[in-house]
Amino acid sequence: MSVHATDTPMVRAEAVSKAYGSNEVLKSISLEVQRGEVLCLVGPSGSGKSTFLRCINHLETINAGRLWVDGELVGYRQSGDKIYEMHPKEAAKQRRDIGMVFQRFNLFPHMTALENVMLAPNLLKKGDKASLQSRAMELLARVGLAERYDYYPAHLSGGQQQRVAIARALAMEPKLMLFDEPTSALDPELVGEVLEVMQGLAESGMTMIVVTHEMGFAREVADELVFMDGGVVVEAGDPAEVLSNPQRERTKAFLSKVL
Ligand code: ADP
Ligand code: MG
Repeated sequence: MSVHATDTPMVRAEAVSKAYGSNEVLKSISLEVQRGEVLCLVGPSGSGKSTFLRCINHLETINAGRLWVDGELVGYRQSGDKIYEMHPKEAAKQRRDIGMVFQRFNLFPHMTALENVMLAPNLLKKGDKASLQSRAMELLARVGLAERYDYYPAHLSGGQQQRVAIARALAMEPKLMLFDEPTSALDPELVGEVLEVMQGLAESGMTMIVVTHEMGFAREVADELVFMDGGVVVEAGDPAEVLSNPQRERTKAFLSKVL
């Protein structure tokens, strides 16, 4: 079977563990995200959600278990029973297929919205300037910011900046998008416009893992909700079911605080 067969999950974690010194942050996490699915990852602060995303995106290495994206081990090559660390260039290539959006937008302040979106594809020579520019304009239109293409981040609201950050991640044509509390730093009235863009992206078929406290989004958009606490998956399932009928005490306690 080809590793790129369409029934290969986009993300597969098998008993993934990660520790910082004696602090075990991820304790044998196993989960799958199918192609075109949205998984919402929720849980209290410190439960390991960001660390899990960072492991998928090559920002951390795991201590035990296996992690695959699109059928390929993250950061490693397998040959028979032997596993080798990837050459950094190969790992960088693998990482380019994954888009990530953080709580803080991290746009370059001295570049316009358009320049921010064009930067990475331009550096990687993904096309000539004119085609990259028209592609970037399309992405800005997709996040509702075509008219603001020449604005600098300082002249955009937090919600607009986050939408530019999403367009910038999409410019690399990722096969997987990771969102780490993308609306947590926003004023409440700006949250909706960002969630709307994310919902549109989900509806277009993008595979997404979203760490969020927005339970309305999880219920509406996610295919699966995973509740993590203390580095373990406590409960997972259909979002509406988990939210309305949590089975575990820890899930109930958490949901009573955020709902
Ligand atoms: P969450 O995103 O669910 O709030 P994190 O993954 O950020 O949780 O953190 C989980 C635990 O890992 C916390 O105890 C945190 O202090 C610890 N941690 C996170 N990153 C590091 C790091 N780079 N070095 C040491 N400890 C870390
Ligand atoms: Mg976090």
